Amino acid sequence: MITTHNLGFPRIGARRELKTALEHYWRGDSNREELEATGRELRRRHWSWQREAGIEQVPVGDFSFYDHVLDMMLTLGVLPQRFHAAASEDPLDLAFYMARGRSRNARLPDVPALEMTKWFDTNYHYLVPELTLQQTFAADPSRLQTEIREARAMGLQPKPVLLGPVSFLYLAKMKDDGEPLELLDRLVPIYQELLEWLGDEGAGWVQMDEPILATDLPVEWQSALQTAYDRLHRGGPRILLATYFGTLGSQRDLAMELPVAGLHVDAVRGASEVSTLIARVPQDKILSLGVIDGRNVWAADLEACMDTLEPAASSLGADRLWLAPSCPLLHVPVDLEQETGLDTKLHGWMAFARQKLAELAALKRGLTAGRAAIAAELERSRRARNSRQNAARTHQPLVRKRVEALAPHDDCRGSAYEQRAPLQQRALNLPLFPTTSIGSFPQTRTIRRVRRDYRRGEVSREDYERTMRQEIARVIRFQETIGMDVLVHGEPERNDMVEYFGEQLDGYAFTRHGWVQSYGSRCVKPPIIYGDVQRSTPMTIEWMRYAQSLTDKPTKAMLTGPVTMLQWAFERDDLPREAIAMQIALALRDEIADLESAGIGVIQVDEPAFREGLPLRRGEWNDYLEWAARSFRVATSGVSDVTQIHTHMCYSEFNDIIDAIASLDADVITIETARSDMELLDAFERSTYPNEIGPGVYDIHSPRIPQVEEMVALLEKAARGVPAERLWVNPDCGLKTRNWDEVRPSLEAMVHAAREMRSRHSEAGQKARSGA
Ligand code: GLN
Ligand code: ZN
Repeated sequence: MITTHNLGFPRIGARRELKTALEHYWRGDSNREELEATGRELRRRHWSWQREAGIEQVPVGDFSFYDHVLDMMLTLGVLPQRFHAAASEDPLDLAFYMARGRSRNARLPDVPALEMTKWFDTNYHYLVPELTLQQTFAADPSRLQTEIREARAMGLQPKPVLLGPVSFLYLAKMKDDGEPLELLDRLVPIYQELLEWLGDEGAGWVQMDEPILATDLPVEWQSALQTAYDRLHRGGPRILLATYFGTLGSQRDLAMELPVAGLHVDAVRGASEVSTLIARVPQDKILSLGVIDGRNVWAADLEACMDTLEPAASSLGADRLWLAPSCPLLHVPVDLEQETGLDTKLHGWMAFARQKLAELAALKRGLTAGRAAIAAELERSRRARNSRQNAARTHQPLVRKRVEALAPHDDCRGSAYEQRAPLQQRALNLPLFPTTSIGSFPQTRTIRRVRRDYRRGEVSREDYERTMRQEIARVIRFQETIGMDVLVHGEPERNDMVEYFGEQLDGYAFTRHGWVQSYGSRCVKPPIIYGDVQRSTPMTIEWMRYAQSLTDKPTKAMLTGPVTMLQWAFERDDLPREAIAMQIALALRDEIADLESAGIGVIQVDEPAFREGLPLRRGEWNDYLEWAARSFRVATSGVSDVTQIHTHMCYSEFNDIIDAIASLDADVITIETARSDMELLDAFERSTYPNEIGPGVYDIHSPRIPQVEEMVALLEKAARGVPAERLWVNPDCGLKTRNWDEVRPSLEAMVHAAREMRSRHSEAGQKARSGA
């Protein structure tokens, strides 16, 4: 019989129950028993939903109160030195201490939390395990045991999920000079021990996630997989090795030959490999095909899935074929049925976690009893697809024509930077080391409340606009008073940099409960790009016109770039990413043209997600970087030479993409550097970045108020590598999460630092700036 299984269910809860429970607990408003009860209840509910959907092997251990990699650290007994004081705490409190660096227990000192980073190419952040060469490990199966027993008590077949040993080491960071692989021999026996425990608890199968198989693995890591699984497969429960997020590529043979009882592959992103795998997977293995997309919100094309699965079933036999989503469902919202406000057509096109499991069940029935048994489901799926394909909203002929008609020179500014810079300088008349900010100013409680009440229809448009204008006026006045050079309006009208624009563009939809976990209790509600994107009305012009009317200084408009608008959304799957980005770029190009006509001479297009759009495999980087950069240029190159284009990115690893960043041809780039002590400027120096740079000198992620001298020191450091006349002075990122008491003195100090730099560097720089 064909088996359906699931790799992992979203843990945050359909109504973000886990978020609420965690935040209550951290605030001290509830006790641990209450928090644990919420966890149990969520697990129970999620399992029973999976059972209702006919899932035979339910994942256990996929639930986490904070993060599954952190849980794995504790299961393996990894406790970095600075958390030792908390070793005897309850495991849950210990985990929170490691994740957050603080505890409800006042006796524990605040310490730096574990570092957090992106989980492969998703928007989920995991906590990075820290290891040393002296590392010891100790198996602690208690969490898994408890959860297995819970699932068994419900009469379910539990399939424990572990992050595999090689991926665990690969994702970890060594705190000394050692190599993580030196720890493999010590780690594998711990996994062996865990497997034995799990077997004793009655687990027939254990899912070992090795998602690193979807990346380009150096040979030593490939052999590590061989070594580890050679030892792990002996005795104990059967191992299902799970890979996801991409193709196996040159690691296909390795993955197929590892001595495990089953292999799960991502049959959506890895669709091209499926037939080879079916033909070549060894006889003694089951093959789990992840045919339902776990990374997106679209309903599956059930007919196409059947076309893939029928030959698989006949060639593998029903006992060797398992069906699953492509990856754990952590990255999609829980339940589409909650979206009662969505347009019905759109509703019919989509599937969230629960609906995806129902799709699996239908596929299984179709394979077992024939297509006629699922005629109704197939019909519904076909109709949804037709309706999507033929809907006017998904195909706007004018948008398509405009993208097709783009000429090669449509992504080039009129002249090169060297010619533009003096023109801009003449128009803007900026001093050396000009000061600016990244866009947002503190989002006070009043701003948030008025925005929310306006949304709910409880505040009139007039009142809303009056409040926003007052806020803009306050921000402009403040910047003038302290002597900033290029002003911003402060973005009070924006709740989120993608949502604000998405809501005004055709082709974007928003859900009410479509939350996806970002890290810990934090969730995001990505918009859904379902149709051709176009701008029907100006989006920022009135606010900017108003801001500029208040001052003689230049004000800088703020837009979100095409890559970020795409990357932080669920995108349509019936158009290449590149084509979607180009549509967004054209919408922005129109907005930028209107801003320019409205007299705005400086326009910033933020691309904080530019780097995270990089594909997992290096071989695909160039292609991505090329269209990503082109979409930025299409958006920004319609302006005259005298209009100054800024961009902003907030991370510090630029080394491998610096050429692409230079190719954006923005006149000015502002970046994050304060925390990395200007190190990243190395990349900009080495490649002699051609245009102007504003290395952030004020770390806005911290409540600390930076001193004039330390900012001067950072700027001096920057000035050693970048000519003074090309340096700007600005914070790391937007100020919206800070309060005025922090921002006021910090920006004042920043302006003083710029003045100090001017007096130190004046003659040489002034000459170069004016092109003399
Ligand atoms: N302009 C945005 C702001 O200042 C940029 C945010 C970001 O870089 N993530 O808030
Ligand atoms: Zn930023």
